[in-house]
Formats: sequence, structure tokens, C-alpha cells
Amino acid sequence: MPDVAANTSLPIVSTDVLDRRWIDVNIPCQAACPIMTDVPGYIEAILNADFETAYRINRLDNIFPGVLGRVCHRPCESACRHGREGLGEPVQICFLKRSASDFGMKPVDLDIDANGKSVCIIGAGPSGLTAANDLAILGYQVTVFEQYEEAGGMMRYGIPEFRLPYDIVRRDVKSITDLGVEIRTNTRIDSWEALDKVKKEYDAVIVSGGCMLPTRLDLPGLESDGVYWGLDFMMRSNRETLGIHPKNVVVIGGGFTALDCARTSYRIGAASTTIAYRRTREYMSFSGEAELEHLHEEGIRL
Ligand code: SF4
Repeated sequence: MPDVAANTSLPIVSTDVLDRRWIDVNIPCQAACPIMTDVPGYIEAILNADFETAYRINRLDNIFPGVLGRVCHRPCESACRHGREGLGEPVQICFLKRSASDFGMKPVDLDIDANGKSVCIIGAGPSGLTAANDLAILGYQVTVFEQYEEAGGMMRYGIPEFRLPYDIVRRDVKSITDLGVEIRTNTRIDSWEALDKVKKEYDAVIVSGGCMLPTRLDLPGLESDGVYWGLDFMMRSNRETLGIHPKNVVVIGGGFTALDCARTSYRIGAASTTIAYRRTREYMSFSGEAELEHLHEEGIRL
């Protein structure tokens, strides 16, 4: 590993061994975070008005703080001690992450020793970009092939811009290209021949093509005109290839994609939008009251 601490006050990747058991018992928010972000550490930095340190602490575990500061489903907040009965409301950990990114993001200044090896990554979504980030820091020459016009994968094309502005995705992606990673957009590898060619040109290839296929429902009529799979609907909307002006929309499902489809329908002029979910409201997998308020304000029926 390069001596990444040499020219910054904090390293850019964490190699610390965490005492998972201790964290589980003592820091419920950090234990609840899927990537175990050092929540107390970055909140303390914000308390000291040191947003740059707060950003860097976040980036140790998560290279997309701008994105997650807006769209994480924030399990850390439901685990927060301050939200326990009689103690008030949980700390707004996710929005604090957003402020760390918005006010503290600085270009990463890092001396990297090239190791002379090259890696090609197919797919510039979250996993491909994370691999690119970590390999670049280790000294590999990394090239990422992306089939669409822009990098970001699900962050760029699966989430509507009113929830996650495209510029925020671009900013987090830039923190990776700043490390010397090259991203070739509009470059699709879709045959064994193309893959063989890439394998000959690079020392290693990582296939990181995403999970774009929907879980299919067993319902008659799903192939009819005017019926879309949720993710396909969002991809077309974000690529401006939707080309429809729906009047009445029904969205089947109870997760974030269902909400995004419903709220996007409202924005493209649907006269009425209804979300149909097979169980009761408390089983819907979005975060909570804020989302319900948005639906109410936009006249979307549940
Ligand atoms: S907002 Fe998400 S990424 Fe950030 S600490 Fe909470 S769970 Fe982890």
C-alpha cells in the first residue's frame, strides 16, 4: 500500500481492524450502517465545524458520500439512541453526511506508486467504481467501460434527478477519476469476442454489469403497451427516452422504486397516480414519514 497518510491528515482507505462486537454494543448507529461508517467521528468533526475531516471520515468507508447523504435508506437513524422511547428524535445522520460532502469535499491529493499492471472494469455503477477506486489507490492503471452516456449506473439512471441531482453523482464520480481512473462511456461489451479482446489488452478484467433484470410478476397482460417494469421506466425517464404522456398511472409495489415511479409520473403530467401495494403501509420498505408527506403533497394515492 502507498503511504497514503503522508500527504493528508487522514488516509483515504481504512485498513483498521474494527472490533465488531464492541461497536455492536456501544455504537448502534455505526453497527446498523451496512458499511459501518464512523458516525460519531464525522458528527464530532461537524460539531467542530471541520467539514473536510467529516468528508474524509465518510470517504474511508464509502466513496459516494454526496449520493448516500441524499438517498441512503438510513438504518443508522432507526438505531440511534436518541430516538429511543422518551429520548426524543434520532440524530439526522444522513443529512449530516450530506453536509459533510457539500461543504467538505476536496480533491483527493494522493501520491500513488504505479505498479505497472492494468485492470479493465466493465460497468461504471457503484460496484465497478468502488473497485476502480480501490485498485487505483493500490497502483493499478484502471479503465472502466460504461455502456451509457455517463458513469454512475443505478445512481445516475435508476434514481430520479429530483431526489439525486445528476451533478452530485458526477461530483462523487470525479473523486474517483481524480485518482487517474479512465472511464470510457458509450462503450458496451456485449459479446464473447469483445470480452476476449479486452482480456488480451489488460492484465485483469472485472465484470460488474449490475442487476438490471426485474423480479417478474406472474400476471396476465404484462407485455401490453403502456406497462413498464419499474426500473425500465426510471432508466428511460433518466435517459429522456420515455416518450409517453400518461393520464392515469397505477404503480404496483411498495419500495423506493415504486415511489420514484409514482413521483416521476406526477412530474411528467399524469392526471392521477395510485400506488397499489399487497400489504399494509407499515410493511412498505421506504424510510418513513417524509416519503409519505411527499406522496400526500403530490396527490399520489396509496
Ligand atoms: S446514512 Fe447510510 S451510509 Fe450514512 S451512516 Fe447512515 S446507514 Fe451508513
